[in-house]
Amino acid sequence: MELSARKRRILADMGIPIWRARDGAFPGLPAAVPAADPPAAPLMPEVESAQAPGAPSETSGPLVSPADVPVEGGVAALDWPELEARVRDCTACAELAAQRTQTVFGVGDRRARWLFVGEAPGAEEDRRGEPFVGRAGQLLDSMLAALGLDRRQDVFIANVLKCRPPNNRDPSPDESRACRGFLDRQIELVQPEVIVALGRIAAQHLLGTDQPLGRMRGSLHRYREVPLVVTYHPAYLLRKPQDKAKAWQDLQRARACLTSAPGG
Ligand code: SF4
Repeated sequence: MELSARKRRILADMGIPIWRARDGAFPGLPAAVPAADPPAAPLMPEVESAQAPGAPSETSGPLVSPADVPVEGGVAALDWPELEARVRDCTACAELAAQRTQTVFGVGDRRARWLFVGEAPGAEEDRRGEPFVGRAGQLLDSMLAALGLDRRQDVFIANVLKCRPPNNRDPSPDESRACRGFLDRQIELVQPEVIVALGRIAAQHLLGTDQPLGRMRGSLHRYREVPLVVTYHPAYLLRKPQDKAKAWQDLQRARACLTSAPGG
């Protein structure tokens, strides 16, 4: 099947080579290309794990399920409006609460099959009140579009922290712990079929590990019972576009976790 001009443009924006699919090896690829299309680049470049995407058998990766982490602040029974209000009024992290423009709760379909989790709002997200809206957000949107997904209706996007850390520093352990209950409750409410952790901080937080990202990528993990795939943060991919193809493999691995075909 020939790729549409739009899909070619999206893949080009992501820096993803237009590959020729091996027969049936990787279901869910956007499309195979006509025989005349170069390059003969392998569909699967070298990855950091021997496991092939599209074959979501679990690995010996850090299958840490933080089910024993208590939901903090009595949020376990809150519905969406109550949870959103609780986040909006939260001042548990004094420094963040004092400096934020607003909290950044999350965006998208609240019963989406896909949940994407990033680290924390940046300056633009703090200003607009929505996660992933700067250049990194545009790249994330391109990645979603390549999967046939739209941020407003097919996925839910949230961060570990709902408030911007000053100077875009990493969240402190205390801040991550304080905000944990909000993300846990969001995941309970969304009930996603798959979680994609965007970057090291989100992956470590969700999996309860201090492993480097390179060790977490390439394996299928679980957050409680939900399959979880680790990939690069879009901001990293802007700096290292040569790793976009690996991110695409991760997304293919995540798509293979869906219990039925996208849109099905
Ligand atoms: S980061 Fe989370 S826990 Fe900390 S003040 Fe913001 S909403 Fe509250």
